[in-house]
Amino acid sequence: MTSTTTIADYPHLFVGGRWTAPSAGLSIDSVDPATEDVWARVPRATEPDVDRAVDAARAALHGPWSRLTATQRGRLIFILADLLERDAERLGRIETMDNGKPLRDTVGEVKRSVEWLRYYAGAADKVEGTVVPYKHDAHAYTRVEPVGVVAAITPWNSPISLYSWKLGPALAMGNTVVLKPSELTSVSALEFAQLFSEAGFPDGVLNIVPGYGHDAGAHLVAHPGVDKVSFTGSYPTAQAIMRAASNGLKRVSFECGGKSPHIVFPDSDIDRAVSVATHSAFRSTGQSCSLGSRLFLHRDIYTDFLDALVRRTERIRVGMPLDPSTHIGPHTSAEQLAKTEHYLDAGRREGGRVVTGGGRPSGYDRGYFVQPTIFDGLDNNSTLASEEVFGPVLTVIPFETEDEVISLANDTSYGLVAGLWTKDISRAHRVAAQLQAGMVSVNTFRPVHWTLPYGGYKSSGLGRENGLAVLREYCEIKSVVIDFSADEPADPFADA
Ligand code: NAD
Repeated sequence: MTSTTTIADYPHLFVGGRWTAPSAGLSIDSVDPATEDVWARVPRATEPDVDRAVDAARAALHGPWSRLTATQRGRLIFILADLLERDAERLGRIETMDNGKPLRDTVGEVKRSVEWLRYYAGAADKVEGTVVPYKHDAHAYTRVEPVGVVAAITPWNSPISLYSWKLGPALAMGNTVVLKPSELTSVSALEFAQLFSEAGFPDGVLNIVPGYGHDAGAHLVAHPGVDKVSFTGSYPTAQAIMRAASNGLKRVSFECGGKSPHIVFPDSDIDRAVSVATHSAFRSTGQSCSLGSRLFLHRDIYTDFLDALVRRTERIRVGMPLDPSTHIGPHTSAEQLAKTEHYLDAGRREGGRVVTGGGRPSGYDRGYFVQPTIFDGLDNNSTLASEEVFGPVLTVIPFETEDEVISLANDTSYGLVAGLWTKDISRAHRVAAQLQAGMVSVNTFRPVHWTLPYGGYKSSGLGRENGLAVLREYCEIKSVVIDFSADEPADPFADA
């Protein structure tokens, strides 16, 4: 690997409101996936740094942060959102360098993250306890309290979006946070910390410890000073975290992967369905947990739809991510490219037919590029149709009846999102009710939005993000009873 450009140096962790050197003096190189050059260097936190970050978050939880009103917390989150909006272009560019997503996507993601923060800023002072009709001569009510110190662990595919998804509701509810971003894409987290500092939050409310999962991450999720873990990433890591978090029964929420069904009935707007199916299978180079990666086409439309899909797919512009005309960039890492190539081999080995794509695009011998690829001739139990590739690989499967396709769609260990196309509103409701997924969309796909709860059935996750539903994930409910009855015996053992 060679580097002809200057490497952006980020030497410090963000702990307790200060920029501090990592205790072991270690760093991690961040590679530009389009060129394979090291473009930035970030600090590598180890166990003592995580301890300091958790201590700082605990101190902040009981310090000035706890004395702010919910409205004041919301105001700070609004300021953070404004700063993110101000720097959207710059941060989008940084994200593109770090994870290879096209500039148009990363800038769009930063701008959408602003909306996420504003939604939770506004929600901060609208979550209320209740007065409970317990009995006449008592005053009973519930208090909504923060859970405490939240460990937020994020992956590399949509870093800034996920900081906002987790920080917005966690801060709105009065928690403090230790964020461990992915070791592959930590730069935007450190940039985010700059904005956090500028917004004027009290010290220690957010702490950022880039590092590897096996040391900084594992130590953080098992730390006795952490009350809740909010994790987005793979299923095996979620399992490891669940085991680690069982000590002390930490609260956990997980957003993991998917193998989402996308169903097209013959009575659909076919042109729109072709466009949306193409985008939902290949956007972000397939590095999304909610791809429509299993496309079920009714037999009556199978051949025509597939032809149109191939034509549409072959117009996708794979290219350098900083080029504004690029639709999809490279994979984020060499490891992810190797994983996709492994799945392309598995598809061929199991008798699948590559309808388009199938390898690296011509002219790209550097960078982690791969063509959008469509397979048919594989059944729903094949490796490609049952495992999450996390790459731009679509499996197309024919079906004949509604019952058959519902059963095929649900025959997976995942259950994050699902989509269907039909003009029959009765069918829309009937099928939506039977699909096992946290989000079902009809005549669109994966309308992820700050107002809509999002999360998985089965091994796709635990708990929900987004919408008002997530706020409950970041608080404890306390019942308080003030008894003012005069006639009840004060001591039930008095006759003993
Ligand atoms: P990963 O599980 O390998 O890593 C995710 C994060 O966990 C990283 O920060 C990593 O350092 C950390 N980690 C790893 N081992 C750990 C441990 N033992 N303890 C604590 N932390 C640990 O996942 P990835 O490869 O970064 O991301 C891809 C996965 O994320 C895919 O499976 C994808 O479906 C999933 N994902 C899900 C969503 C969603 O919203 N459902 C969104 C994006 C990505």
